[in-house]
Amino acid sequence: MDEILKKLPTVSSDDAVKMFIDRIAEVNPRVQTGLIRAAFLFAWDAHKDQFRKSGEPFLAHPIATAFILAEQRLDAITIAAGLLHDVIEDTETTKEEIESLFGEEVALLVDGVTKIRTFQMKNRRERQAETYRKMLLSMAKDLRVIIIKFADRIHNLRTLSFLQPKRIQAIAEETLDIYAPLAHRLGMEKIKLDLEDLAFKHLHPQEYQSIEERVAKSHFGRETKIEKFAKPLLQKLVEDKIPAVIAGRPKHFYSIHRKMIQRSKSFEEIYDLLAIRIIVDSVRDCYQVLGLIHSMWTPLQDRFKDYISTPKSNGYQSLHTTVFGEDGAVMEMQIRTWKMNEVAEDGVAAHWLHKSSEEVRNFSKDDKTLAWLRNLIEWQKDLTDSTEFYEFFKIDLFHAEIFVFTPKGDLIPLPNGATVLDFAFTVHTQLGLHCTGAKIDGKIEPINASLKNGQTVEVLHSSTKNPSIEWLKYAKTPKVRGAIRRWLKTAEKQESTALGRKIVDTSYKKLHADASFNEHAPELLKFLGLSNVERLYELVGSGELPVTRVMQYFHVRKIKTNVSENFVSKIVDTITGRSHGILVGGDSDNLMVRFASCCNPLPGDEIIGFVTKGRGISVHRTNCPTVESFSEDADRTIEVCWDEGEEKKYTVSLEITCTDRPGLLMKISEVFTDCDANIIDASIKVLNQKAKSSFQIEIKDQNQLKQILRRIQKIKGIENVSRVKDYISYPGVDSAQ
Ligand code: MN
Repeated sequence: MDEILKKLPTVSSDDAVKMFIDRIAEVNPRVQTGLIRAAFLFAWDAHKDQFRKSGEPFLAHPIATAFILAEQRLDAITIAAGLLHDVIEDTETTKEEIESLFGEEVALLVDGVTKIRTFQMKNRRERQAETYRKMLLSMAKDLRVIIIKFADRIHNLRTLSFLQPKRIQAIAEETLDIYAPLAHRLGMEKIKLDLEDLAFKHLHPQEYQSIEERVAKSHFGRETKIEKFAKPLLQKLVEDKIPAVIAGRPKHFYSIHRKMIQRSKSFEEIYDLLAIRIIVDSVRDCYQVLGLIHSMWTPLQDRFKDYISTPKSNGYQSLHTTVFGEDGAVMEMQIRTWKMNEVAEDGVAAHWLHKSSEEVRNFSKDDKTLAWLRNLIEWQKDLTDSTEFYEFFKIDLFHAEIFVFTPKGDLIPLPNGATVLDFAFTVHTQLGLHCTGAKIDGKIEPINASLKNGQTVEVLHSSTKNPSIEWLKYAKTPKVRGAIRRWLKTAEKQESTALGRKIVDTSYKKLHADASFNEHAPELLKFLGLSNVERLYELVGSGELPVTRVMQYFHVRKIKTNVSENFVSKIVDTITGRSHGILVGGDSDNLMVRFASCCNPLPGDEIIGFVTKGRGISVHRTNCPTVESFSEDADRTIEVCWDEGEEKKYTVSLEITCTDRPGLLMKISEVFTDCDANIIDASIKVLNQKAKSSFQIEIKDQNQLKQILRRIQKIKGIENVSRVKDYISYPGVDSAQ
């Protein structure tokens, strides 16, 4: 091919197309050449006056790209699209023109490749993220788009040297970050190795050269070692009449480099790990050869892998076994059929080898590679943020999958690092939403426990358990995080609605109107421009609509109030000591009520509520400095009062300093018992004859606390007793604001 490219500036288009078609027929004899010929001549005309930075005709690029595709034995449509892949971007040709000349499929492929181009956006990260998203979506339409993109990238990497060093580095890095892992994911090992070695050469030229030299030097020794295994094995295969071919593995500089760094080993240690490949006709032969090998050499038990019965998620199938030879030499053997070998080298591209393009577009449902792709596309729907998508995409490409089992023995594939929660949701959303933990190989573990390959996981669940915001941290797959987020949103909406209903109710009662709220509802909704009452409640409860605006309607209309009832109510209120306000006291009705951590109100304190945006009501003491800042936002304040009917316990921490006198602690705890407070936790530190003790106690209100403090202060030997504000925690509510 290089020869044709060299001759390009001097030959006529007719000669060039003839040479090209001849070469294509050599590497890909089954392909129809009519379409390719037409595409070649069209590209020739379109690009004829363009030159690359290197000075060679631009045409060399699409021709080389198309040839790489031909070598992959792709179909005529893909090869034609490879020839035309830059005409929309770099010439005046339109998609419609291509469609009318070469058909819809070619046009879609060329358009797809064009669209993957990088666009100028805010920053590099986002630009990349967007590129990947586009790649993914174009793959979903037709995988051949990405295959053309791979070929395009390979040729660009081969001819990078004329660009700015910065640009070279960026392209090489992107190749290692995204293109190579993606090729790996699609099972295209040959392409992946090419991409990696080319990028490696540009990124670390010295290391590349050093490895290249050492590989060349140790070539002979390596071949001899391989011979020691291959020769007797081949002999045995012939004896047993098993037709097979034995091949060494292709040298791959980048993986040697990576392993040297990752495992901090010397070149020799890495390079001495020998491997050969035995390719046979049938699956039966694979296992027969395996038995043969194990009868000739001792296998390393834990290195045996059967990827035939459990293929990798990119479709890779093979038997792997590692054996000991004489002198302790170790050899890895990979046994596979010819078909498996094609898939191992060409991945999804292998689909084009034995199928018409019509069949190719309708992949079978159980194809593993495409299951992964479908998952990826499914997952990206849940990712709105493009950088999150980038992270996810990168993670998913790099991390191998693990396989875990349900108690029934079903295999569940998950990304590396997946947790019990990921597993539960993957089995069934309902199971995930109520998950409390799991039995992993019989042992009970929490929801955030990570799973390992081969474990059996039985999900534990309870109908009363529901997701919380922390779950987003525990789940590793975007799909699961999406499900949790959706649930939280719905729950928040329900809570806001309930809270809003209560706020509106309370405010309305204060009006003592002579008609029920519902009678006014239709008019009121019109006034506020809302469609239904639920929405009104939700807006009020989430702090988006101040209740005073709702009540304005009644004030403006001077809604008649029932004075006598108003009068009576006031008397009743005075008698019962209860004003209209939101009752707070605990988590009994699940309202979003939180106690502000700036002033930590306790029952008995005078309090006021503040409707925060989306976080319910935050309750402060009325004398809290924060409350002053509310005056600007008076619309949001709301009357709240303690629910005295409810016996709730609050945890309070006390710090007591006293002389280290025997019996003193006894006296302190007697006070707690006398005053009916439970001790939850206690710790004592003794220093310089002084004891500093901390107690966590459960009390029901301010008065009880005051009584306790008074009585402790009276004990002889007590120097100081104080309430540690920061450690107060309330049952069932988080502190906020
Ligand atoms: Mn290109």
